[in-house]
Amino acid sequence: MTNADPLSLVLDRLEQLDCRPRGWGRKWSARCPAHTDRRPSLSIAEGVDGQVLLKCHAGCDTAEVLGELDLTWADLYPPDSRRKATNGTGASRRLAESGRTTTRPNRAGTRRTPLPGFAGRRASLG
Ligand SMILES: [Zn+2]
Repeated sequence: MTNADPLSLVLDRLEQLDCRPRGWGRKWSARCPAHTDRRPSLSIAEGVDGQVLLKCHAGCDTAEVLGELDLTWADLYPPDSRRKATNGTGASRRLAESGRTTTRPNRAGTRRTPLPGFAGRRASLG
């Protein structure tokens, strides 16, 4: 667990508000800070991308719960999920293309019988 783990951040805030988070792994429950909760109505779960999912079963808006926790929606997402898009496309294809000069044999179609090897290559290429 890192410091930037949003789940532990949420649990930490719940602890501070005496909401008594209980759980294990990626599934937790706590008393909802947004309403007078006597039983743990708030579900806290970690999604597949590491984001925290909050759900008050008494019907509180998640935004309200976040407000009580003094958190924002962004706090529910791990910082790693934002810098995922790194794709490097090489320019090697362009080089290969320029190396192939357009040399087309300009023979008038005298030989119309296709070579067997050529026909087979075509078939395998689709
Ligand atoms: Zn609630």
